[in-house]
Amino acid sequence: MSTERVPTGHVQTVGGRVPAAELGFVLPHEHTGIQLWQIPDRWDYWELTPDDGLLVPELAAYRAAGGGTLVDLTLPGVGRDPLRLRRYAEATGLHIVMGTGWYRTAYYPAEALIDRRSVDDLADELVAGIDGGVDGTDVRPGIIGEIGTDKPWLTALEERVHRAAGRAARRTGLAITTHSVMSPVGLAQLRVFEDEGVDPARVVIGHADSYPVLEHYLEIIRRGANLEFDFLGMSFTPMERHGEPRIVDLARELIDRGHVDRLLLSQDVCHNSQLTAYGGNGYVHLFETFLPRLRAAGVPESAIHQMTVLNPARILAT
Ligand SMILES: [Zn+2]
Repeated sequence: MSTERVPTGHVQTVGGRVPAAELGFVLPHEHTGIQLWQIPDRWDYWELTPDDGLLVPELAAYRAAGGGTLVDLTLPGVGRDPLRLRRYAEATGLHIVMGTGWYRTAYYPAEALIDRRSVDDLADELVAGIDGGVDGTDVRPGIIGEIGTDKPWLTALEERVHRAAGRAARRTGLAITTHSVMSPVGLAQLRVFEDEGVDPARVVIGHADSYPVLEHYLEIIRRGANLEFDFLGMSFTPMERHGEPRIVDLARELIDRGHVDRLLLSQDVCHNSQLTAYGGNGYVHLFETFLPRLRAAGVPESAIHQMTVLNPARILAT
C-alpha cells in the first residue's frame, strides 16, 4: 500500500498546468457532452447534449458538493470540444482535465485514417496535441484515453491505437485510461502496453465494475496497473441498477487486502438521463450515495481520501 499523503508534480488541465496537490476530489472518468448514437446500427442510445445551460449547473452542483476536478474523456468522433471544457472550468471553478486518443473501432473518425497510417505516425499526432494543443486550439490534454475495445478482444485497428497510445505515453509521461467492459479485455490491453514498454503503474483499466470478478482485479494489480470502478450510479441495465452492493463488497475486499492505492472511482456520466435535470444522479452520486455506502460498509475515511484525491492526482501528475 502506498504511504503517500501529499500529491506531487503538476497536472495539465484545460486552463493550464496546476500543482497536483490543488486538484482536490477528482472524478477521473466522465463526459460533459458525448454522442454515441450516430454510428450505423446503433439505435439504443441517445446522447449527453453539450448544452451549457444544462451542463454548467450540473457541474456547479458537483463543485458545491466538494468536487475539485473532473476528467472529461470524450474523444474526437464522439464530441470532444476543448474550448467548451475551458468555458465550463471558468464558469464553475472546477479543474477540468481533457483526454486524447481514439475511442474504439465503431467510433474511429474516418478522417483519422487509422487503418492507413503507421503506429508511429499515430503516436506523433497524439504527442503533437499533448505538447501544443488539439482540434485547432491551444488546449492540451492531460491524459491519454479513454481508448478501448468494442468487444472482449482487441481488433487490429484497436491494437494499433493501443500501441500508439503506449508510445505517446512513454514520450510524454501521461497516463493511459481505458474502456474495457463486461470482460477481462483489460488484461489484453495491458499486454499491448507492456509490449510497448509502458510502466503499468501509468495505466488505469476502466469500467472494471462492469466485470465484477475479484480474481480479474487481483491480476490487474499483480501486473502493476490500476483499476477503476466508474459506472457507479449508472442505471441502464439491471446489473447496473442492482449491482452496487456487490461493487461495495469488492471495493472493501480490495481495500482489506491492502490495494486501496490501485482503485479509482467515477460515474461515467454520458447520457442526458443521468443528469439531475432529468431525474438522474448527476455528478454527485459518489458524494450523495456511493461514498456513504462505503463508509457504512466500514471503509475508513483515509481509504476514501486515497481513492478520490491521492490516486487520481498520482495518475494525472507528470
Ligand atoms: Zn467507456
